[in-house]
Amino acid sequence: MTLTLAVYGKGGIGKSTTSCNISTALAKRGKKVLQIGCDPKHDSTFTLTGFLIPTIIDTLQEKDFHYEDIWPEDVIYKGYAGVDCVEAGGPPAGAGCGGYVVGETVKLLKELNAFDEYDVILFDVLGDVVCGGFAAPLNYADYCLIVTDNGFDALFAANRIAASVREKARTHPLRLAGLIGNRTSKRDLIDKYVEAVPMPVLEILPLIEDIRVSRVKGKTLFEMTESDPSLDYVCNYYLNIADQLLAMPEGVIPNDAQDRELFTLLSDFYLNPQAPKQTEEDELDLMMV
Ligand code: SF4
Repeated sequence: MTLTLAVYGKGGIGKSTTSCNISTALAKRGKKVLQIGCDPKHDSTFTLTGFLIPTIIDTLQEKDFHYEDIWPEDVIYKGYAGVDCVEAGGPPAGAGCGGYVVGETVKLLKELNAFDEYDVILFDVLGDVVCGGFAAPLNYADYCLIVTDNGFDALFAANRIAASVREKARTHPLRLAGLIGNRTSKRDLIDKYVEAVPMPVLEILPLIEDIRVSRVKGKTLFEMTESDPSLDYVCNYYLNIADQLLAMPEGVIPNDAQDRELFTLLSDFYLNPQAPKQTEEDELDLMMV
């Protein structure tokens, strides 16, 4: 059985880097993995391949949309650790529908019988606008994962994604596996959100400069670790996520917060920061005074 994952998150949150490292972690666990970039920026798989691979939509246009003239090697590229990579691409700027592109990508890969070969298929999807188009990968996914940081905008986007999962779960066997905190030295706002909208937190990655560098270098952390073993601890975050997913977690159908309620919750956090809790030691200090 193929495990199908859809990774969503606000643009610029580190979703593609996270996706590439999760794909690699799954490959390191012996799985045959296909990562499908569904961001019109078409750089989802750059960290795996080290270059911008041609997109499905470009290839289809070149072949005048004759699916029968396209071979798997025209659109599927081998990345690090044997992860296969596909970029859906996007419609022409200002025209067309991103969701249509995702639909055509899935249609082509199915015609190529490409889906049946993999243990894991991971869609990496833009999560700023979870319209019907960009929600399309949820139709094929067993689990949705949301990448966020500890900030207002990313959590607002996360809540919209959670709402899309709830909607799709009415008709599809889809679950939210959980949140992945990225660049998160503090997680207080994430905790506050999860208190209001209960969902698992799969992992919290602190702010690690090497992750940002890996993106620019076009290398996963696993590849960088080959020459710098001190980065091994970073890989363990991704291996931990991979292990949780391979264990087929129960996941949740989230009850997203209403926009107004969430706005109040998150803005209250900024406007009325709570005083840090006193520790027992602090209390004793006060008593001594
Ligand atoms: S469905 Fe989404 S991707 Fe398609 S045109 Fe509308 S907003 Fe754009």
